[in-house]
Amino acid sequence: MDEQRIAGKIEAFIDTCRRHHLKITPQRVAIYRELLQSDMHPSADALYQIVQQAYPNISFDTVNRTLMTFVNIGVANVVEIFGGAKRFDPNLTDHHHLHCIQCGKITDFHDRSFDQLEDPENIPDDFHVLGKRIVLKGICSECRRKRSIA
Ligand SMILES: [Zn+2]
Ligand SMILES: [Zn+2]
Repeated sequence: MDEQRIAGKIEAFIDTCRRHHLKITPQRVAIYRELLQSDMHPSADALYQIVQQAYPNISFDTVNRTLMTFVNIGVANVVEIFGGAKRFDPNLTDHHHLHCIQCGKITDFHDRSFDQLEDPENIPDDFHVLGKRIVLKGICSECRRKRSIA
């Protein structure tokens, strides 16, 4: 994401914080910025490692709570992970994921035919579908390269 898009997103983020009467602290903005800049859907711990370089006094708990606040005010989503730490996604548009089972990296991709998949008939009638996301599991190019070297 280029600097101009990030600046626009941060502006919108600050607006949303204001609407929710949330204090806009430099730490909060830094966590949001790092979340935007990461393209791998980081965990709270991964973001904590980055943000604490600029804010050595910040605690993991603060980062974790801040991320859950982001989810509550609708500027980020939690990505479904089966086992392992929660991962966070600042991309609120419809999209799908590539999930590397080796390094755990999750990257976005877009595909219209996946977007338009019909809901299956054999799900319970009273289950109200709000959205869908396809997760393709596999080995990312970086991990494949490492494998072929090893
Ligand atoms: Zn990988
Ligand atoms: Zn995503």
